[in-house]
Amino acid sequence: MKPEKYDRNVTLLCPTCGCTEFSYDEGLDEAMQVITCTSCDREFSRDELIRENTENIEENVSEIKEEITRDITDELRKTLKKAFSGSKNIRFK
Ligand SMILES: [Zn+2]
Repeated sequence: MKPEKYDRNVTLLCPTCGCTEFSYDEGLDEAMQVITCTSCDREFSRDELIRENTENIEENVSEIKEEITRDITDELRKTLKKAFSGSKNIRFK
């Protein structure tokens, strides 16, 4: 398994400035590659950049999860409200 092939699915952020644009020298061996943030000029190795981003990625995932949970709860609340407000109209004769 080659983890490198998943790189393009994840936006890597510079942990210093949050910039997503990096420049690197294509000619070098991947393990030796130095990736430079185009915004703040911080230099990383590929591994370092990925490691710095792991925390970030995990945070994003849990944020998305929270959002989904909140949306579902809201939706459920609305549905219940509707169901209950409908029941007010029931008249017994
Ligand atoms: Zn930067």
